[in-house]
Amino acid sequence: MLIDTHSHINFDSYDEDRDAMFDRAADAGVDGMVCIGMLPTGGREALSLARRYPGRVYASVGVHPYDAALLDEAMLGEMRALLREPEMVLVGEMGIDTVKAEAPLAVQEAAFARQLELARELDLPVCIHSRDAFPHCERLVREVCPEGWKGFAHCFSDGVEEALGWKALGFTISFAGQITFKNKSCDPIRDAARALSPEDVVVETDAPFLAPTPHRGQRNEPAFVRETAKVLAALWEMDEAEVFAQTTRNARRVLQL
Ligand SMILES: [Zn+2]
Repeated sequence: MLIDTHSHINFDSYDEDRDAMFDRAADAGVDGMVCIGMLPTGGREALSLARRYPGRVYASVGVHPYDAALLDEAMLGEMRALLREPEMVLVGEMGIDTVKAEAPLAVQEAAFARQLELARELDLPVCIHSRDAFPHCERLVREVCPEGWKGFAHCFSDGVEEALGWKALGFTISFAGQITFKNKSCDPIRDAARALSPEDVVVETDAPFLAPTPHRGQRNEPAFVRETAKVLAALWEMDEAEVFAQTTRNARRVLQL
């Protein structure tokens, strides 16, 4: 009924209770989740989780903008090999972060472009991390994929203009826990959701980070994606079940599940 399109459930913070966490997800109606594997080691971990929980966990692999300087030919080769496995449904996360990443912008752009090229070559959707970086991301997507590309604008944290910009590029906007936060600074994210239609949107946790209200401050987990979807239903004045179903259809469409 719900798909969490972005989680890091391979992290060792889940080693003690991973099976219980899957049970809680199932109880909350979350029957699918994408494990985003970040290189150097996350890709193999995501793949092994997807194999251990088939039909429930799907895998992705990419080089996060924080780690952009690590991407070399060997790592790209490893990505290509991993992405040929049927459990791999998405490439990333990749992108640009002008707030927290230490790698210079040019290094981030080069790593992003190489991964976008790979996704295009393999005809796979991408998961993009863009933090205060929409114009950079937009330019690179247009350069590498002039016809636009497909995938998720992950953990969307901008406003109406950027949301519509992603949509124009062919992307589906992925909302995480911030949309549930009462802070004024999160109002533009809610405005963006109102400006989009339910067909344009998926939900994610980005677990273990960014737990939504009322779990804010705790370790996040896929079950909590329900709180984010509930807030979207309230913003759209729609039935919660309808929003759960529509965002799930959108996730399945992009991921070709
Ligand atoms: Zn993430």
